[in-house]
Amino acid sequence: MGLYPFNRFLHSLINLVEQPVCTFCQKATIADSFGPHLCQNCQSLFLNHKEGHFCKRCAFPLANFQNSCPFCLETKCRFQSAITLGIYQDSLHQATLKMKKLSGQNLAYSLGKLLYKKRLQYIDTTFDYLVPIPVSYRKWVTQGYQTAAQIGRGIAAVSQIPLLPKALRLTREIQKQALLPKTTRIQNTKNAFKPFYTKRLQDKSILLVDDILTTAATANEATKALLHGGARSVVVATICRATIS
Ligand SMILES: [Zn+2]
Ligand SMILES: [Zn+2]
Repeated sequence: MGLYPFNRFLHSLINLVEQPVCTFCQKATIADSFGPHLCQNCQSLFLNHKEGHFCKRCAFPLANFQNSCPFCLETKCRFQSAITLGIYQDSLHQATLKMKKLSGQNLAYSLGKLLYKKRLQYIDTTFDYLVPIPVSYRKWVTQGYQTAAQIGRGIAAVSQIPLLPKALRLTREIQKQALLPKTTRIQNTKNAFKPFYTKRLQDKSILLVDDILTTAATANEATKALLHGGARSVVVATICRATIS
């Protein structure tokens, strides 16, 4: 927590000597006080759901006239609700691919900030902790950083919600969900997470962070582990929502 004012100070010093660039399009942009930036044009591209109307439970994009969610009719979500920036397509699709490389870590941080500024700060829940969904050690080493944890750092920088980066651990290696058919994804993540810091989780409201929500299998299992560890409630926050699997 004490680092944030120092980070802001450091970034303003850097900005005095260096023109900041957008972490997505690399064009020159205006600095803000919290570090890695996104230009206004990219920000508007990422808010890519024209209707802007998402299912309050699972963040599935709905048309304005739609009241029932086709995803929720088929799938039971264990989390209280899900919040997302936009749909997994166009610029957000490219951004998600970019975040899978080490060079995308500043983008992940910027998108975390944007997710808070455009969505999370307007919801009616107070959160005690941010908890990122962990990745396997192998993926962490291959990629060079953990995407969800980095998005969480971006949210923490602008929200002051404390980040508990190791509150969840993997109990075993899991396969990459994107490569699996929908039916296998549930089995792949079943009981894959274990809660840590359970004393700190007791009766706490948790914001669970990841880059993308697709079948909700991973988010459901992570939620189950947090609730089992004593958390009172879990809301899921992701950069984007995929509508196909
Ligand atoms: Zn840009
Ligand atoms: Zn839904």
